[in-house]
Amino acid sequence: PLDKEELGKSTWGFLHTMASYYPEKPTKSEAEKMVQFFNIFSQFYPCEPCALDFQDDIKKNPPKTKTREELAKWLCDRHNTVNKKLGKPMFDCSKVHERWKDGWLD
Ligand code: FAD
Repeated sequence: PLDKEELGKSTWGFLHTMASYYPEKPTKSEAEKMVQFFNIFSQFYPCEPCALDFQDDIKKNPPKTKTREELAKWLCDRHNTVNKKLGKPMFDCSKVHERWKDGWLD
């Protein structure tokens, strides 16, 4: 059976890592494709209630793909929207590259 928690954890890992390694200055084509990626992703994410809420959320807050910084921040905000819904703690989005690219600086 589908494990929503396990799927969620690994999916966020993939999505945040992808955002942290997205080009700092993407081409117009790359920027457009990343918007398409999230639209398609939200259609096929294999947890239906999750996918439906995520579709609503990105309709209101469309993907920001002009720079790596903008994409990483946008995705962090989307994850925080889900965290809030589930009663999980908010994540400090200034630490998103530390978590997903550079490793914790401690
Ligand atoms: P996760 O939320 O999976 O986070 C994993 C790690 O990411 C954390 O340990 C932390 O280090 C880091 N992190 C946390 N917040 C952020 C952030 N804002 N930015 C960057 N890094 C962060 N579950 C449901 O029950 N209902 C839903 O409607 C639902 N919708 C989802 C929609 C999407 C698009 C995805 C990918 C998942 C969804 N999930 C949903 C799953 C849910 O978000 C969690 O993944 C799951 O509950 C496991 O939570 P976790 O505590 O292991 O940490």
